Formats: sequence, structure tokens, C-alpha cells
Amino acid sequence: MKNVVLFGPPGAGKGTQAEVIKLKYDLFHISTGDVFRNNIKNNTDLGLLAKGYMNKGELVPDEITINMLSEVVEKNIHVNGFIFDGFPRTESQAITLDKLLGKFNTSISGMIALEVNDEILINRLLERGKGSGRADDSNREIIENRINEYYTKTAILKTYYQRKNCYYGVDGVGSIEEITSRIVDAMSKL
Ligand code: AMP
Repeated sequence: MKNVVLFGPPGAGKGTQAEVIKLKYDLFHISTGDVFRNNIKNNTDLGLLAKGYMNKGELVPDEITINMLSEVVEKNIHVNGFIFDGFPRTESQAITLDKLLGKFNTSISGMIALEVNDEILINRLLERGKGSGRADDSNREIIENRINEYYTKTAILKTYYQRKNCYYGVDGVGSIEEITSRIVDAMSKL
């Protein structure tokens, strides 16, 4: 199984690239943000729980996120491999993911991180907010809060995967095709 974590701050282009990469490598794409948004749309209990955090630009608590993610992985464990988009976002999530995959005798093959500077991120997200209808993309303060959550809780995962010798940084600025080709290059090393 090839299991990839597609990593990077909000607005780095994880969702866009995951759509391309999943087809190229026949991977099952899990976007925790998309799962939460679908639950919100369908008014589920999970959606109600997640909505308050998401609309403020805060991370949904680990316990809620981990339970949801574990269920999706266990249900789909017979796929060719997973591409995780937006998960893990805390060290505790990363540790849980390792244990969860370990139960099925598999592991993370690598973390591919899209590197983009903050000013570009904010502008990309404000631009996306005009068309996406996403409440958390529509306002500069919420966007800054999301980026702040990334630096305080998520960015440390770079070290977590570097220690496992499976961190691959990729320049996330350029055309979609250029960035895809850098990711493909990194995938060849996993
Ligand atoms: P995304 O679509 O990945 O930008 O995620 C949108 C929002 O969903 C985030 O700002 C968080 O509120 C929530 N979220 C998504 N994934 C996670 C996660 N792994 N841990 C906690 N919160 C998450």
C-alpha cells in the first residue's frame, strides 16, 4: 500500500493536487475538511459539533476528528492506498494514524509538503472565498486564525516525519501542472 500525507498550510493547494494525484496513483482520497463540510450540509451530529470550530478557523478537537478518520480508514482498508489531505494536523493525530495503519500492517510511505509563503496563502484563500461559499475563506481574520492554528499546532509535524526520514518538501508556487510534476517527482522517492 502507498499511503501519502499531503501536507501544507491552508491555501497551499492540497485539495487541488490530491484530486490529480489520487487518479494518477489510484489512491483513496480522504479530506477531513470535506467530510466535515458534508456532515454540516447534511445536518448530522458530527456536522453540528464541527461547525462552530470551523467557522472560527479553529481545529476541530482531536477526539472528534480521530474517531471520524478512523472510521473512514477502517471502512476502506482494502484500497490500493490512501492520500490524506488535511490530516494529521496535530501530533496526537499523527501518532494515532501510525497506530491505526499499523493495525493493518501498513504505514505512511511519506509526507509531501506544499511550501507556500503566508501572503500568497491569504490572497489565494480570499480569492477562493469569493466563489466557494466557504465561511472560513471569506474573512481575513478567520483565515489568519487558520494559518495561526497551522503554525502553533500543525507545523511541528514536519519534524515528526523528518525523524522518520519520510518528509518531502515541494515548492507550492507555480501552475497546477508544475506543482503536480514536483509532487510526482517526490512520489517516485517513496
Ligand atoms: P480544510 O478543508 O482542510 O482547510 O479544513 C477546514 C477546517 O476543517 C479546518 O480549519 C478545521 O476547522 C477542520 N479540520 C479539517 N481537518 C482537520 C483535522 N485534521 N483536525 C482538526 N480540524 C480539522
